[in-house]
Amino acid sequence: MSLFKNTLAQINNAAETVGLDKDILAILEKPQRILEVSFPVKMDDGTLQMFKGFRVQHNNARGPHKGGIRFAPEVDMDEVMALSTWMTFKCACAGIPLGGGKGGVIVNTKELSEGELERLSRAYFREIAPIVGPHKDVPAPDMYTTPQIMNWMADEYKKWTEEQLVKEGVPADSDVCKKRVSDALGVVTGKPLGQGGSEGRGAATAQGGAFVIEQIAIERTINPADTTVIVQGFGNAGSFAAKILAEMGYKIIGVSDSKGGLYCSGGINAEAAISCKAEKGSVVECEMTGEGCRRVTNEELLELECDILVLSAKENQITAENADRIKAPLIVELANGPTTPEADKILEGKGIEVIPDILANSGGVTVSYFEWVQNLADNYWTEEEVNKKLKEIIVPAYLRDSEIKEKYSCSHRCAAFISAILRLEEAIRKRL
Ligand code: GLU
Repeated sequence: MSLFKNTLAQINNAAETVGLDKDILAILEKPQRILEVSFPVKMDDGTLQMFKGFRVQHNNARGPHKGGIRFAPEVDMDEVMALSTWMTFKCACAGIPLGGGKGGVIVNTKELSEGELERLSRAYFREIAPIVGPHKDVPAPDMYTTPQIMNWMADEYKKWTEEQLVKEGVPADSDVCKKRVSDALGVVTGKPLGQGGSEGRGAATAQGGAFVIEQIAIERTINPADTTVIVQGFGNAGSFAAKILAEMGYKIIGVSDSKGGLYCSGGINAEAAISCKAEKGSVVECEMTGEGCRRVTNEELLELECDILVLSAKENQITAENADRIKAPLIVELANGPTTPEADKILEGKGIEVIPDILANSGGVTVSYFEWVQNLADNYWTEEEVNKKLKEIIVPAYLRDSEIKEKYSCSHRCAAFISAILRLEEAIRKRL
């Protein structure tokens, strides 16, 4: 199954609905630049191992390319192309002045020591350094990449920039030199706090999704205490989603990670699940003392009765095979690409509403944008300010999506793509 084909199907569906000009569509269907790199890493036993990575820059009509770097064994060019394309549409849908990009390295980080991971991160970043930059392309975390990894990458880029300045003969005490070295911090986002990171970035993907859910609850007078939530995936997005939604009063009844899931009809204590995952490595190891608790597989978890299903694991989770068995009336996609286009049609037929990834998880890149702004201005905001500004971006993005959905009688996904297309078309035309 090609993930990029799924992306193209989503773009084409929206383009057809809004009657997009074929020339603009042709531009949006192709990444602008694709880089494949191979590089050696010295392993702890003294041997050299070769690794392969990618950086795809999909489109920069609205601003510098922006998007995470994924470290995973399944990474391939097709996946990175799809993810970079979604970034372009995500940033445009949110209305932030950035384009789309994505990177990846084929590696299982669980098999590396801390030192090997650092050398791999630095080596990969050095390979892509000529095409990234604080005003060109700004990477960030994605699956299995962390603030620490971003810190190594930012540091490596700073060293690389200093080397370039020497090669270019730029005097070390000149303003140009000082500016390029200080701006270098803005080459990646998702850095640790105190090292250029932004308050609120860790929880941002989930917080953005929670603001959308809050808005939906206001519109439909939903009472959180009577609303059950299942969260698939317990990484950065999923664990924060469970915590934030629980704090908002929602009843979390199911959680899962790559090893399996836990279901408790009487509710799960999100905080306890987070500490037990941190301690034991998986939510399936958590003690099940609550009412109606049992272990479930990830497949089963998706098909259980609940009011809101939050998808925060990975792509292709709801497919033509299981879509018909999904019971949740509302799905919120915090992962990228968790629902295939075939599954979308089945869910639509069943009246299941899907708040799509490019809208629901745009909180992550929005706070990345804030981090980048803070780095370049060397002026830092409080968590309250960050969350206030995030809400001011994501709620209007959702309202715009709802309006477009009404106007074209289409799904939230189609509307989110149209919302992005309208902004992208304007930016592209101004440059042609
Ligand atoms: N990896 C995240 C995403 O898929 C965040 C990207 C970013 O912050 O640039 O949206």
